[in-house]
Amino acid sequence: VFEPLVSDFFGFAAELTDLEKEALAKLRAYLEAEVKPLVTEHWEKATFPHEIIPGLHAQGIAAFGWDETKPFPNSAVFRGFVALELARVDASIATYVGVQNGLAAGAISLCGDADQRAEWLPKLASGEVIGSFGLTEPLSGSDSAQGLRTTARRDGDHWVLNGSKRWIGNATFGDVTVIWAKDVADDQVKGFIVPNDTPGFVATKIENKVSLRIVQNADIALTDVVVPHANKLVNANSFRDTARVLRHTRAEVAWEAVGIAIGAYEAALAYAKERVQFGKPLAKHQLIQDLLVKSLGNITASLALVVQVSKMLDTETQRDEHSALAKAFATSKMRETVAWCREVLGGNGIVLDHDAARFFADSEAIYSYEGTREMNTLIVGRAITGQAAFV
Ligand code: FAD
Repeated sequence: VFEPLVSDFFGFAAELTDLEKEALAKLRAYLEAEVKPLVTEHWEKATFPHEIIPGLHAQGIAAFGWDETKPFPNSAVFRGFVALELARVDASIATYVGVQNGLAAGAISLCGDADQRAEWLPKLASGEVIGSFGLTEPLSGSDSAQGLRTTARRDGDHWVLNGSKRWIGNATFGDVTVIWAKDVADDQVKGFIVPNDTPGFVATKIENKVSLRIVQNADIALTDVVVPHANKLVNANSFRDTARVLRHTRAEVAWEAVGIAIGAYEAALAYAKERVQFGKPLAKHQLIQDLLVKSLGNITASLALVVQVSKMLDTETQRDEHSALAKAFATSKMRETVAWCREVLGGNGIVLDHDAARFFADSEAIYSYEGTREMNTLIVGRAITGQAAFV
């Protein structure tokens, strides 16, 4: 039975259908039982719990918004709540799903033709194939619209890719990566479905992260990687097409940010009710209530925003600046909230055992990926002033 989260203070889950609520209740129970007990140890060791992949996918968390693979008719608000529930338990697991569902399946769905969708979406949905999204490069992050160095050269029925990628989630253990590269013929960014075992494709794990330690990111070297023309995403012919994918995924990351803030808030609230100082629970101290209420305010404002941005996706009225503002705002409020919540736990707020520390550390990566706050701000700035400050 679906119970709205206590942190959904204004009852936004009322937007969901009964089927959607049932699916969310099932997902939440699965995450609490099978995923939550694993995350602290994996975070500390910087390892990914591969054994959860079949069970996680069995919950219908990947490619579940597309016609070919959706288990039942569902709304973008529901898909947002799925991202929230995942992130509320662990931001790395939410990121694994975000890459698989939003970036890899999303790119193939939004930019592929019927054959490419039919070939890849079912396998990405089931987890039989793990996907990645290779846009960022060592020398090009925020400026990837114009700064990509990776090249694609048409050679008869094939394309030859050369270059390097950085930060690519899931690529150390994944099967296929959507690589974005500049066509040397017309200087436009195009997308290619590249199996990770193609000769010349080498993925190396990025070590020593202090955020999102469970999810694995790769540096990828591409040396004369040859893929058939059939693997070129038919409708990925300029950075505008890449941006169509990012418009969807940025909204999803904003939902993840709300989930992370909720995870930290719930940890802080529970701790405040238990821990006694000056002869009374922390929860009875006015300044602690202030931290908790400010956190709930951030969560509520962000939740209202992401619900609306998802409704706009369903009515096809969402533009780049809407998801950019949602991502910039929700991640900024998340960052503030996880710091307050960690503070409620005092010293225990910096050890993994009480969860708040993990959300605190993980929030930093979410704040920067899928467009930093600055870049998303500049996307909104361009929309409201008509002036692009970043070209
Ligand atoms: P830079 O672009 O070097 O920026 C550094 C700083 O300068 C930032 O604060 C930025 O906002 C600021 N800045 C840059 N330009 C301007 C400007 N014009 N005005 C004002 N400020 C500016 N990428 C993928 O392709 N696939 C993935 O799966 C993926 N997963 C990721 C997972 C993690 C954990 C992380 C950390 C990153 C991931 N990324 C991925 C890359 C991510 O999208 C980039 O890190 C992000 O776009 C920022 O790029 P950068 O790190 O190169 O920073």
